Amino acid sequence: MRIDLHTHSDRSDGTESPATLVRRAHAEGIDVLGLTDHDTTEGWVDAADVAAEVGVTLVRGIEVSCTFRGYGVHLLAYLPDPTHGPLEAELRRVLDGRNARLPATLEKLRALGIDIDVHDVRKVAGETAAMGRPHVADALVSLGVVADRNEAFDRYLGPRGPAYVHRYAADLEQMIGTVGAAGGASVIAHPWAARHDHSALDERGLAHLQEVGLSGIEVDHVDHAAGARAALRAIASRLGLVVTGSSDNHGLGKVGHDLGCNTTDEDQLQRLLELAARAAAASGRSTPEVLGPIVR
Ligand SMILES: [Zn+2]
Ligand SMILES: [Zn+2]
Repeated sequence: MRIDLHTHSDRSDGTESPATLVRRAHAEGIDVLGLTDHDTTEGWVDAADVAAEVGVTLVRGIEVSCTFRGYGVHLLAYLPDPTHGPLEAELRRVLDGRNARLPATLEKLRALGIDIDVHDVRKVAGETAAMGRPHVADALVSLGVVADRNEAFDRYLGPRGPAYVHRYAADLEQMIGTVGAAGGASVIAHPWAARHDHSALDERGLAHLQEVGLSGIEVDHVDHAAGARAALRAIASRLGLVVTGSSDNHGLGKVGHDLGCNTTDEDQLQRLLELAARAAAASGRSTPEVLGPIVR
């Protein structure tokens, strides 16, 4: 069974509609697909319709932008009730923060002599719930300023770039609690990705997060070298955290993230679903059903 638990549609910064993404996953032999757009659940309904039609098991998720001890961390929230008030409110704050960031970023780029405005970004942004830096990067590519997204981040938009603008992100510990209260399970996305400082996510940090409700860590991810994967797997085994692997596919938006290039073991998925079910039972929140023939 091929299980890919972390992908993006054009409801955040992927390039395909949720329906197209699910169809492609089916065509490429993915049995279980997690849709985890940034800070939004907007793609869930369309994805679920197609998943039911083609027989893919859809695991509904969100990749939430968080901060922990001063650093950015991405949290994969699986199967929360999206109508849980505190979760809804916090996602709204994050999305509003991203929308406010855009004009400030464009201002900085113009100050650097680049002729870009919001229409250039809108043109490449599709149906997204919030235009963000990946869309600005795509606009810079289409304007011929840079060759690809990576160059846009390296030269302008990354944390050390001249057009970087700080924005609001959720407190990681609180968000883990909120996801649990919404009946979901939390997994840290690419905890040791090279582009982030991950010193706070060492074994002690992860053990602490587990105490506040963390269920697992994403170990098999393109941004982790073999050594990092081995070390993270050992930590997960010592702590009893669920281990996931996934592509972090963005359609055509990011190279090296082909669907199913990293996958999650079936027993780990079952543990994750059990933890979500336990959170749902404890909180009384109805987690949206997991569709498909495989996961009961
Ligand atoms: Zn991420
Ligand atoms: Zn992602």
